[in-house]
Amino acid sequence: MTDRLYYHGSFLHNFDAEVRSVLETPRPALILDRTAFYPTSGGQIHDTGWISQPDSESKFRVTEVVDTEDGHVVHYLETPLKDVHPGSRVRGEIDSARRRDHMQQHSAQHVLSAAFVRLFDMPTVSFHMAEDYCSIDLDTPSLTQSQIEAAERLTNEIILENRPVDIRFTSREEAAALGLRKLPPVERDQLRLIDIHDFDLTTCGGTHVAHTGQIGSVLLRKSEKVRHGYRVEFVAGLRAVATARRDFSTLSETAALFSANIYDVPQQARKSLDEIKLLHKQGEQAREDLAAAQAETLLAEVPERNGHKLVVRTFSNRDLNFLKLLAQRLTRQGASVALLASASPQPALVFAQSAGQPYDMAALLKQTLTKLGGRGGGSKDLAQGGAPNAEGLASALAKAAQALSA
Ligand SMILES: [Zn+2]
Repeated sequence: MTDRLYYHGSFLHNFDAEVRSVLETPRPALILDRTAFYPTSGGQIHDTGWISQPDSESKFRVTEVVDTEDGHVVHYLETPLKDVHPGSRVRGEIDSARRRDHMQQHSAQHVLSAAFVRLFDMPTVSFHMAEDYCSIDLDTPSLTQSQIEAAERLTNEIILENRPVDIRFTSREEAAALGLRKLPPVERDQLRLIDIHDFDLTTCGGTHVAHTGQIGSVLLRKSEKVRHGYRVEFVAGLRAVATARRDFSTLSETAALFSANIYDVPQQARKSLDEIKLLHKQGEQAREDLAAAQAETLLAEVPERNGHKLVVRTFSNRDLNFLKLLAQRLTRQGASVALLASASPQPALVFAQSAGQPYDMAALLKQTLTKLGGRGGGSKDLAQGGAPNAEGLASALAKAAQALSA
């Protein structure tokens, strides 16, 4: 069993220890007789830091810290230490900025979970700490925005009151009589309690601030329905400041696009979306009108031969949807065959015939595309496809037209 120094205080950042085991696969790692490094557990992510040897200037980065089933703490290293064996003395140093961040998040979680219980009788069933945000899952059938804001307010009040946060050890029997928020399901002789003075008492193995004021502040963000209740995301301490800074930058950038005040962004965005919808509708109508007019002109230009009109046309700049629209207009009434192509924005082809005409557009297109190195398909009356480049489109269309009259 590794002696866990962090159990007794979260502000111990440097310690001396003796090496118990040196592991080499899959990654270099050390097991020590004692450690201040917190391993990932109880929702809290692990510390990082450095391990060094006496009489050596070099420090070795600790990238991950994990618990083993038999009670050891494994320190994974970026590179292996030289000349280290069981019995060697080493020195550990915790990354204090990362540790402080984890303390702020975890203590904030205790206050927040207690606030949800006190205000709305909503117990926390799980806690998750990620690199950039944290979340708790609440056992509740519903959760309103005003409840979220009330819990956030109470949590920040408890933070401002700067209440002491003590670590206590007690037996399971004593703990049951103390009225804990949560008792661990596993039987253990001694329980470690985190006592937020007159507000929350719960069992926990994590690292915590010494006074609630050190949490700084808490900001609740997204909430969503999950399988057994509601998940609430939050950020505390310097993370709350960093998140608010990022939110502000995003909002400022968006506001600048609208030349608006940040608080007018939703209104401006709504207005722009309405305008886009209207323009889209007008654009669709204009395309329909253009296709109808162009179809009329094209049909007037060609004579009827073998009982139908054959329209062959390569455009320089029409998209596939317009070609389809035009093909529909050309073949909707009367008897006609349309072989259409456009060079840009993407080289595209649409072959169509009026219902009842004898050809096979899909087969004709396939034949044409084989020569162009393109791909496509469709039905007997309407087929579409694309080519890798616009070269040879017009002559390919002419050949397809010849094949029809052959
Ligand atoms: Zn905890």
